[in-house]
Amino acid sequence: TGKKWIFMVRGRIPGGVMTPRQWAVFDDLSSRYGNNTLRITTRQSIQFHGVVKSGLRPLIHGINECLLSTLAACGDVNRNVMAPPTPAYTPARAEVFEDCKRVAEALKPRTPAYHKIWVEGVELNLNQPEHRDFEDPLYGKGYLPRKFKTGFVIPPVNDIDILTNDLGFIAIVEDGRLLGYNLAVGGGMGRSHGNAQTYPRLADVIGFLPREKVIDVARAVLTIHRDFGDRTNRKHARLKYVVAERGVDWTRAEVEARAGFKLEPARPFHFTTTGDLLGWHRQVDGRWFFTVFVESGRVKDTAQVRLKTALRLVADRWPDLEFRLTPNQNVILANVPEAVRPELDALLRDHGVRTDRQTSVIRAAALSCPALPTCGLALAESERLLPSVLNRLERIAAELGLQDQEIIVRMTGCPNGCARPYMAEIGLVGKAPGRYQLWVGGDVAGTRLNRLWKDTVKETELEAELRSLLERYARERRASERFGDWAARVLWSETQAAPVPA
Ligand code: SF4
Repeated sequence: TGKKWIFMVRGRIPGGVMTPRQWAVFDDLSSRYGNNTLRITTRQSIQFHGVVKSGLRPLIHGINECLLSTLAACGDVNRNVMAPPTPAYTPARAEVFEDCKRVAEALKPRTPAYHKIWVEGVELNLNQPEHRDFEDPLYGKGYLPRKFKTGFVIPPVNDIDILTNDLGFIAIVEDGRLLGYNLAVGGGMGRSHGNAQTYPRLADVIGFLPREKVIDVARAVLTIHRDFGDRTNRKHARLKYVVAERGVDWTRAEVEARAGFKLEPARPFHFTTTGDLLGWHRQVDGRWFFTVFVESGRVKDTAQVRLKTALRLVADRWPDLEFRLTPNQNVILANVPEAVRPELDALLRDHGVRTDRQTSVIRAAALSCPALPTCGLALAESERLLPSVLNRLERIAAELGLQDQEIIVRMTGCPNGCARPYMAEIGLVGKAPGRYQLWVGGDVAGTRLNRLWKDTVKETELEAELRSLLERYARERRASERFGDWAARVLWSETQAAPVPA
């Protein structure tokens, strides 16, 4: 008997925006070819898990039929481009989303092979000149040394964790008008255990560009990675190491030379939060949106909460809404007219989806990557364990009177860091089955990396470890000081762990 393989398939969904029709197609495909769940990722995409080989082509074909794609959702290319999903803050969001789509298109690989294989369903003839001689105009023959991540954000809300991207555009908006972007380069989360050459890094903000230069700058930064990234060592291949080792001035000069203009000095901005607005809120255009809390981004039906069915019915019944996937793994149902709101609310409630206080403050802020059993890189559990970790944390918090205090917890099954654990107030990073690194001290605005507090904590010891930290926090914190800020002020001075290199 041969070995059986299952695959993960990830959509390419710029800014996480889907029509209800596209949602319905994804929902169907997950039932027919996946494991009957949809997994919202931390990069505003959807993953299908449990796909067997015979399901690959019909699934990918189905995604393309509904005018989305899987092209460049994985691999050493520009990945899914992120954009702020929340409709509540500024009319400039629409322009930022347009720029997100333009950059996604401009940085897309041009290979004809994808279309041939997955859309037309024909076997490639590699002797044909169109394949044999194909060289991508942007990526060349060798593509990038490693993955490349791009995002857009609108301060003061840092809901996409902009500084964790290779390339970030920070919108500068005045009176609802988009003036241009501050450019952030060289962020990234991934590291490897026991390899000090690898580390998470925050992007540097290196200047300001007018809106019309977005594509030129995106191409410039991507080709810097293409040309200078370390192709001899995949663990040291991200753009962040180029920026860290060659310096910000070199990077700025290289961007300017490639883009053909001089960046202006970065404009002032500040971030206040990385979170989503859960529940019902008004959009800037007067309509409504509802943010559905989705634990670990896993859209599924359970005996109590039939979330998958409810969202499918919403998609079928209101074709003019918009589904938006958030980097916090939630779903926003946007563009809801006033008159539709009561009916939509009732539909969600009828399926067990709460529309008042959906979850606790600690759960609402938590993220986890999929890890076991579907991620081949996982060293430990993450998504399947997170609920029980949060149960324990909430119990301790309640005992200490901290139940209303948000603490951002992020958990991953390996140091690759898909759920951005190095930005969390409490980050748990899998080392081995049942063993985790414990990182502490990130901030609420997504502007500070945390630091390693314990290199190995057994899962069975986690509760005691968290209890001792929370007890100290309850005792020692200053008025309204968050856990992450207390940890950075107090715990960091007690640990030998060095800050990561700048
Ligand atoms: Fe990403 Fe590692 Fe989690 Fe897999 S186990 S999803 S690679 S963080």
